Amino acid sequence: MSSPLYRRCADICRKIVLIRDRSNCVFCGRSAPWVHHIFFRSQYRENWTVMFEPDFQITLCDNCHLQTPDSPHKSKVQFMDKLEGYLRRTQQDERWELIRIVSENGLEDTKDHNVILGFLIKEFKERDATAWMDRDIQPDHGRTVP
Ligand SMILES: [Zn+2]
Ligand SMILES: [Zn+2]
Repeated sequence: MSSPLYRRCADICRKIVLIRDRSNCVFCGRSAPWVHHIFFRSQYRENWTVMFEPDFQITLCDNCHLQTPDSPHKSKVQFMDKLEGYLRRTQQDERWELIRIVSENGLEDTKDHNVILGFLIKEFKERDATAWMDRDIQPDHGRTVP
C-alpha cells in the first residue's frame, strides 16, 4: 500500500482534485488544501487503485472536514446528503450516480496500477497543471484516515 507507485498515484490524484475544486472547500468555499476520500479504503479491498479516481475525492476545509456535525468523519449519512446536495446543485448528477452506485454495491476495479498511473498523468497534463507538480501541499488526511 505504501509503495512508491502508490504514493505517486496518491500525490497526483490529490493534486488533480485540488485543481478541479480550485483548492476551495466544495461545501463552504473556504480555501482548503484537504482532500477527503469519500469511501473508506477498506471498501475497496484489494481494488485500492479505485481510490485514485478523482470522482471519489473531494476538497474540504478543516471545519467542514472535521468540526461540523455533518463532518464525513462524524456522520456518514449527513455527509452523503450534503454531498448529494452539492453535486446536484452543481449539475454533477452523473458523478453523484456513480458515487451512489459504488456506495451501495461496491465497485470492481479491473485496472492495474500502472494503467491508472498512466491515466492520472495524462489527465494531469491535460489540465495544464504542471505548475502544481512542485507545489508543496499539506499531507493528505485521507491517506491515513479516509
Ligand atoms: Zn468548508
Ligand atoms: Zn477525511
